[in-house]
Amino acid sequence: MTLTEKLPTEFRQRCEGIATEQRSLLNLRAFEPLPADLLAAQLNAIILTPEQISTLDPSVVAVLLDSDQWSAGIINQSPLWIVNNPRHTPARRESNLMHEFGHLLLRHKIVRFDPNTGLPLRRQSDEDEATYLGGCLQIPRRGLLWAVQRQMTLTEIAVHFNTSEEMVQFRSNVTAVNIR
Ligand SMILES: [Zn+2]
Repeated sequence: MTLTEKLPTEFRQRCEGIATEQRSLLNLRAFEPLPADLLAAQLNAIILTPEQISTLDPSVVAVLLDSDQWSAGIINQSPLWIVNNPRHTPARRESNLMHEFGHLLLRHKIVRFDPNTGLPLRRQSDEDEATYLGGCLQIPRRGLLWAVQRQMTLTEIAVHFNTSEEMVQFRSNVTAVNIR
């Protein structure tokens, strides 16, 4: 099942609304790129890499720094600390962080870790919602319409919004805004 099939229309509209609200708080229009670091500052979030977390065991830091298998996570809510995988590309970093801001703005409960496996106990519905809102934050539907009206290519749109081309394609699919 695709995300648009799983998530109701009202929820998806709410996400566009949240994306618009966050942009307007930063005096940004729908067609302007929203850098994750700018939104982080607005949300009082501190972005850390594993070695910057003094409470982590050095062996855990080494494992995290050696792995591509994780992207980002909220490790503390007050103050808000988000750990991010420094191995990922800049475009991936943007989407990782926007996904975490999605959890935050939707007031999802912080993910707990299974004490036996050490793996995060994620709820799939929360993950789907955060991914959807993260995409809206990166490329609002109105921003995508603007780009299409200017006849920008998929690659140009990705560069403009500082996203991956996969993200542009995903946003095109879920918003039914077709890129030429
Ligand atoms: Zn998540």
